[in-house]
Amino acid sequence: MTHSLPQAIAVVGAGTMGNGIAQTFASAGVKTFMVDVAPEFLERGVATIHKSLGKFVEKGTLTAEVAERAKRQLTATTDMGVLSQVDLCVEAVTENLAVKTKVFQAADAALPAGAILASNTSSISITVLAAKTKRAERVIGMHFMNPVPLMKLVEVIRGNDTSDATATAVEGWSKALGKVPVLANDYPGFVANRILMPMINEAAFALMEGVATREAIDEIMKLGMNHPMGPLTLADFIGLDVCVSILDVLKDGLGDDKYRACPLLRRLVAAGHLGRKTKKGFYDYTQAK
Ligand code: NAD
Repeated sequence: MTHSLPQAIAVVGAGTMGNGIAQTFASAGVKTFMVDVAPEFLERGVATIHKSLGKFVEKGTLTAEVAERAKRQLTATTDMGVLSQVDLCVEAVTENLAVKTKVFQAADAALPAGAILASNTSSISITVLAAKTKRAERVIGMHFMNPVPLMKLVEVIRGNDTSDATATAVEGWSKALGKVPVLANDYPGFVANRILMPMINEAAFALMEGVATREAIDEIMKLGMNHPMGPLTLADFIGLDVCVSILDVLKDGLGDDKYRACPLLRRLVAAGHLGRKTKKGFYDYTQAK
């Protein structure tokens, strides 16, 4: 069965995930608006997309024509008014309920009545976000994985009131993008982070207790479980602050102390060692290119 794509979409937030999501839709030929609060964030997002498209062309996984079409299909703007032209808006702003609430209310006001409003949140409740709008049946989680152009999974999260039609549309659009949508219900951390974060946390406890070195922990999990990278390396990619925030959501939302963040994780965050983005986390990247 072939699936159709939306005519036009908007991504709000031009950061790591937002620009990856915008690139993915634009590469599929969809008219794509990318919205952020200031021109410099948009410039950085567009530059990242152009660089990534260039790499795909170099590798031969994308033709130069498709890359050029993707650039033409992309419009970067600070004007939320463009949302009046789209069938789907994917919110990918900072993982903070107050920030997302403001964006959801502005998006709800600007979008056409029938449009779908999706969030790329890693852990915030879709039901809570939907309740801030007048379109709860057309609000859904569309949790892409990083890096978006390469990763196949879209974890599709149904809020309490998400309609079947909304879930079906989002599953179809995800397939048309070449992704694999997998449905989950709205519980803290959904599926991906509910299972991933305890593994990362346990790796941090193992390191803290001296069970093995960081290299040994990563190598054992990489080779033993056939994971592409070890949990401590992965945590440095995700951001240790992000890991702690998600663990806090799991602990509060599920009311279970087994999700308490490892003191070593908290200590590294307190020291400002957040992983690759600050060049120090479980590993030191100051010498890396
Ligand atoms: P990021 O910090 O790289 O980007 C966030 C962007 O949102 C910034 O450019 C910021 O200027 C913009 N923004 C903030 N407030 C805004 C507003 N009111 N209107 C428009 N833009 C606004 O963050 P990210 O890593 O791309 O994460 C975005 C979302 O994706 C979060 O919900 C996060 O949990 C989720 N997520 C992240 C990852 C990851 O690996 N980074 C993976 C899956 C999901």
